[in-house]
Amino acid sequence: MKRLVVLGAGESGVGTAILAKKEGYEVFVSDFGIIKEAYKQVLIHHEIEWEENGHSHEEILSADLVMKSPGIPDRVKVVRALNDAGVDVVSEIEFAARFTDAQIIGITGSNGKTTTATLTHRLLENGGLNVALAGNVGHSFAKQVAEGSSDYYVLELSSFQLDGIREFVPQIAVLTNLSEDHLDRYDDDYDKYIASKFRISMNQQSEQYFIYDLDDVMIGKWMNAHPIQAQKLPFSITKSVAEGACLKNNEITINLKNKQFTMPIASLGLEGKHNIKNAMAASMVATLLGIRKETIRQSLEDFQGVEHRLEKVLKINKVKYINDSKATNVNATFYALDSMESPTIWIVGGVDKGNDYEPLLPLVNEKVKAIICLGVANEKIINTFGNVVEMMIETHSMKDAVQVAYRLANKGDSVLLSPACASFDLFENYEDRGRQFKDAVRNL
Ligand code: ADP
Repeated sequence: MKRLVVLGAGESGVGTAILAKKEGYEVFVSDFGIIKEAYKQVLIHHEIEWEENGHSHEEILSADLVMKSPGIPDRVKVVRALNDAGVDVVSEIEFAARFTDAQIIGITGSNGKTTTATLTHRLLENGGLNVALAGNVGHSFAKQVAEGSSDYYVLELSSFQLDGIREFVPQIAVLTNLSEDHLDRYDDDYDKYIASKFRISMNQQSEQYFIYDLDDVMIGKWMNAHPIQAQKLPFSITKSVAEGACLKNNEITINLKNKQFTMPIASLGLEGKHNIKNAMAASMVATLLGIRKETIRQSLEDFQGVEHRLEKVLKINKVKYINDSKATNVNATFYALDSMESPTIWIVGGVDKGNDYEPLLPLVNEKVKAIICLGVANEKIINTFGNVVEMMIETHSMKDAVQVAYRLANKGDSVLLSPACASFDLFENYEDRGRQFKDAVRNL
């Protein structure tokens, strides 16, 4: 019997353990911290051995194969010991994909993964396919492979999941865009992070598809230097493309495998240029898989987005309140500001991951009337925008931030929470931050 050790007992770890057990592995789960009660119960129910509060190296090093959860960096002691001992350490998607014949649509990128994956899933589901959504969203891929029988999986893939693949090959891969994020896990080397994202295509051959943003300079540079075997299908909002998706007369225009699709951008349920791109990518996948034009059009009209991503909360005294708490980096906030159509009161700040705010200056200059800083350390924001925006106010709780915004806002303005930072200084996570924002708005 083969022995699989799972490092990390979160969603992907527990899912992997369930699948491995079902496939006849001897399974051992080890977590450096405390395992959540609900997950413990699942492990007990499936009669899977586990430990918490530390790793027993001997138990772990005797593995034939190790699945490392995406949150665990390579530099930790136990992973280095495994590498030294020559034990293969893979990610959940690599392991789980070995046990399904379903077609896989893999979606990666620095921003837009969840939105594009959720929208793609919706299009395929509305088109009548037996399709599941997994990866960083909802139940783990491994658990769904163990318990379900989908014909298609739409997987949201982080670079950490991709670092641990060997043979994993998506039939259709999507790369939404690239911007600096998580560089702490890549020795502060942007190229390493990019290489990691492109692993999504490394096992693809000429019968598979690679959908990517033609407007993204870094993607273009990388592809010039590193050939891709899959059929390359670009989307663009600035250039015309022969095969792929582009804009013509304010219509999304897709030409793919002798199929044509058009849709006015004004009819999209989602707003913002970035969402035109996300809609293009999702529609290209749907077109490749033969979903009817009418279904794609209707689904794009109906799709209202995912919580915490440019989510419209309320309109109070003709002021719009928008929750973009998921904007944890500068690029995401760039598109949020870009999509604002009225004078904006911008709530920003949190844990800065080495942000360069300069690219935001023109947009802030044009659209932002007041900045409300919401973080423990706000100097960088104040130094960057102090000369550009008339009003800058520091706050230390969401309630204060929203109340200040309420006082500053005039009829026709928007209040935008788009922090460009991680949330861990004042909040549990971005969801907590977004929920607190919505609660504070609803209590105004
Ligand atoms: P991810 O799963 O990659 O983090 P999300 O769909 O959750 O992506 O969106 C994260 C943030 O990025 C949100 O603030 C969202 O409005 C913004 N965003 C969504 N799509 C894009 C895109 N294509 N380019 C840039 N920013 C985007």
